[in-house]
Amino acid sequence: MPKDFLQDVRSHYDAIVIGSGLGGLTAANVLAREGRSVLLLEQHYKLGGLATWFKRPGGHIFDISLHGFPQGMVKSCRRYWTSEIADSIVQLHGVRFDNPMFSLTTSFDRKDFTRLLIDRFGIEPAKVEEFFNTARGMNFYDDQSMTTGQLFEKYFPGRGDVVRLLMEPITYANGSTLEDPAITYGIVFSNFMSKGVFTFEGGTDHLVKSMEKEMRRNGVDIRINCDVERILVERGVVRGVELAGKKITADAVISNSNLRSTIFSLTGAEYFDPAFIDEAKAVRLNNSSTQVYMALKEGDEIDRNTGDLLFCSTAPEFRTDLLLSRDITSRTFSFYYPDIRPDGKQRYLIVSSTNAHYDDWNRLSPEEYEASKRDLIETTLESLEQYVPNCRERIAHIEAATPRTFEHYTKHVSGASFGTKFEGLAVSRTLPEQVRGLYHAGSCGIIMSGWLGTMNYGVIVANDVLNYLNTQVPAPTPAVLN
Ligand SMILES: Cc1cc2nc3c(=O)[nH]c(=O)nc-3n(C[C@H](O)[C@H](O)[C@H](O)COP(=O)(O)OP(=O)(O)OC[C@H]3O[C@@H](n4cnc5c(N)ncnc54)[C@H](O)[C@@H]3O)c2cc1C
Repeated sequence: MPKDFLQDVRSHYDAIVIGSGLGGLTAANVLAREGRSVLLLEQHYKLGGLATWFKRPGGHIFDISLHGFPQGMVKSCRRYWTSEIADSIVQLHGVRFDNPMFSLTTSFDRKDFTRLLIDRFGIEPAKVEEFFNTARGMNFYDDQSMTTGQLFEKYFPGRGDVVRLLMEPITYANGSTLEDPAITYGIVFSNFMSKGVFTFEGGTDHLVKSMEKEMRRNGVDIRINCDVERILVERGVVRGVELAGKKITADAVISNSNLRSTIFSLTGAEYFDPAFIDEAKAVRLNNSSTQVYMALKEGDEIDRNTGDLLFCSTAPEFRTDLLLSRDITSRTFSFYYPDIRPDGKQRYLIVSSTNAHYDDWNRLSPEEYEASKRDLIETTLESLEQYVPNCRERIAHIEAATPRTFEHYTKHVSGASFGTKFEGLAVSRTLPEQVRGLYHAGSCGIIMSGWLGTMNYGVIVANDVLNYLNTQVPAPTPAVLN
């Protein structure tokens, strides 16, 4: 008989969280810490969503999305998780760029970018200072009419090389383009580039296991292999969820699932105002990614000077369309040294990431898809050869993931790596105005995506839910759900 993953589940909770990405996990933990009863439902057999890892024979553990995050993670982890988690965050020191315009290594913070812009790129110190202050001073309520491209043109007219230095990592990081509002760049840039890039010592597996332990300590009822089929709504109020033939009621539901799936598949367009639905339909998804995972043979090593993060490109200039093209010219290599998992086996790993369009992969026949993956692996090795000589002979394991892989494991529409574009945030935030008690806390709007963005968004939404629950006289559970 198949295992019942909902065995002994209660019939009612204060809040149900659908999905265990970093946004869902953090929202569940914050609510439970405040004494609320919380049910966390994850469709996959592992928690973490895109913050995940996988193991391969030989002691290799690959991280999917642990390439780098801003220093703000330390504060957020300390406040909303544990000191142990916060204390495991360490800085990446070697961030490299290698492209036809320039090759350099940076500590990726404001001081070093200032040095580079003045000494290497010949920009006036006052201009650099003014640019950083403008980027740093931007906030969500600022005028949103200026685009990132216009912001660069204002400070560094005609300087494609400067734009590349300042923009390429952000495009890799969240798929944002020169056409996106400058505010999105300003916020991400000052978060990322003011104090460097950080990672989690112990790997994603250690992080997620620590989070699970903390959630259990706070009383979250965690259920994996639980695919929520429907969010139940009655007379404009959320009532709970339905899955595996069961209805479970709750005063509030937080969906960490993709924003579009939350509205159109899990809830249903009929529960929202037509104007809201039009707005939701207009929300653009962010792009997806491909990755190639490589492990060096046991005993082999990568020279530490290779760096931790390498933004490499053969494209003569920076163009977002080139970064997204299936004809890959630009890749980010993450090099993982044994100190990422000090307690693990002494393994050296490399993950190559590229931004990608879902349709470039989805339209392929099974044979074409396999051939395209082989080509991705082959071209990645060609590119890696100049940074890790003789890599073909040195690699013990290699495999590729595509937008279809990300869609398969997380149910993200079109395998979106960073949820939705900027306009998704307004739709996500106004969800509870449409259906009382229904919230969304997952990657959206560039700012609320990535490890730090989604974690912080989980906190914001958990606080909204706490306010709602505290002021709400819970409605009697309707008979229809019993
Ligand atoms: C290749 C790649 C590299 C990345 N690199 C970085 C990086 O270096 N730095 C960084 O900060 N960010 C990075 N990111 C982005 C970052 O990983 C994500 O923004 C973040 O982890 C998303 O968190 P989330 O809370 O939105 O949830 P997600 O991770 O999207 O998780 C959503 C969860 O909901 C579950 N779910 C969906 N539908 C249902 C349902 N019906 N029932 C039950 N469960 C459901 C899914 O299974 C999943 O577990 C990367 C992403 C990718 C794909």
